[in-house]
Amino acid sequence: MTPAAGFRPHPIAAFERIGEENAFAVLARAGALAAQGRDIINLGIGQPDFSTPEHIVEAAVKALRDGQHGYTPATGIQPLREAVAGDIHRRFSLEIDPGRVVIVPGGKVTMFSAILMLGEPGAEILYPDPGFPIYRSMIEFTGAKPVPVPIREENGFAFSAEETLSLITPQTRLLILNSPANPTGGITPKAEIDKLVAGLAAHPQVVILSDEIYDQFLFDGEAHTTLLAYPEIRDRLILLNGWSKTYAMTGWRLGWSLWPEGLFEAMRKLAVNAWSCVNAPAQFAAIAALTGPQDCVTRMLAEFDRRRHLVVAGLNALEGVSCAVPKGAFYAFPNIAGTGWTSAKKLAATLLDEAGVATIGGPDFGVHGEGYIRLSYANSAENITRALERMGRFLDEARAA
Ligand code: PLP
Repeated sequence: MTPAAGFRPHPIAAFERIGEENAFAVLARAGALAAQGRDIINLGIGQPDFSTPEHIVEAAVKALRDGQHGYTPATGIQPLREAVAGDIHRRFSLEIDPGRVVIVPGGKVTMFSAILMLGEPGAEILYPDPGFPIYRSMIEFTGAKPVPVPIREENGFAFSAEETLSLITPQTRLLILNSPANPTGGITPKAEIDKLVAGLAAHPQVVILSDEIYDQFLFDGEAHTTLLAYPEIRDRLILLNGWSKTYAMTGWRLGWSLWPEGLFEAMRKLAVNAWSCVNAPAQFAAIAALTGPQDCVTRMLAEFDRRRHLVVAGLNALEGVSCAVPKGAFYAFPNIAGTGWTSAKKLAATLLDEAGVATIGGPDFGVHGEGYIRLSYANSAENITRALERMGRFLDEARAA
């Protein structure tokens, strides 16, 4: 039944504060323009343009045919939790307890849960800015104070250990880290993480949420530094990871997290209350992804690397634009300060409406994102080339006008 005309819900403060992810709004706008017959090139949304590898899809189909139609344990099926531990061992030679792994419906659910668990009025939560917009949105939702950790181009878009530590107060409950990073493509070097972890010894009340969803998206031979490698913080580390990016499975809604002993029960209960479990066939697909051949990942990465060079060279050829070479993830974060556009959001919106190229304005990732736009190069080389040509023409015409 639709509510009576004039119905106004009672305002709920937390929902007055909650934000969102503008990439989804841009996706909808790009779709609406395409539906009107416009030729839109979408460099906005962050999802691989590849199909989920066949053997993974087949594992889900087989699970359905085998009758895997029911609820599973809230924390995930045991063979999958063990496959996650096996994958961490294979890639990093580290041990994790499968009993502390929670299978979740998407990486986002881990940050949602962690922030909900630790945020409340009076608490402070540190998060990267520019960074994934849901961090701040959820912090605001809980009533905690969002404390942005500036991520600077001159620092290679890495975290500064010193600056991060300087922002910690006795009220700090949670520190969110993300490397390789969205939206900048930055990687925080191991030496900086060593320094940060050493400094955290003086702040034992701070829980760390390490968002490592892009941990296989590193270029130029860079090795990923996982926060799991630091035993001294294991008892207060929440690790966020998942299948969305690595195996081109964004629409499957599938992620995993590792929880310390002190928070695991809260997370298990949250799962029981909110989503019961991740859909069963997807969990079987996830086992196939982790235990099957990994050449699909290598191939995708090689293609992203090729496009990375294409997009960076193309952006640097545009007057007034300069783009640092991203070291990870699949985003370029060019500095547009020299173009004359003082609002990056306005530039992104006008680029979409007038040039048919979807990008995201840097301020959608935080105040320190002003002066930048984000391009996802999860699109074909041909489309990237066309998009860059359109951007060049658009900027030239706007300058002449
Ligand atoms: N963390 C970061 C840094 C992301 O960029 C994303 C998605 O874009 C996520 C988490 C969420 O991933 P999922 O689609 O699995 O919820």
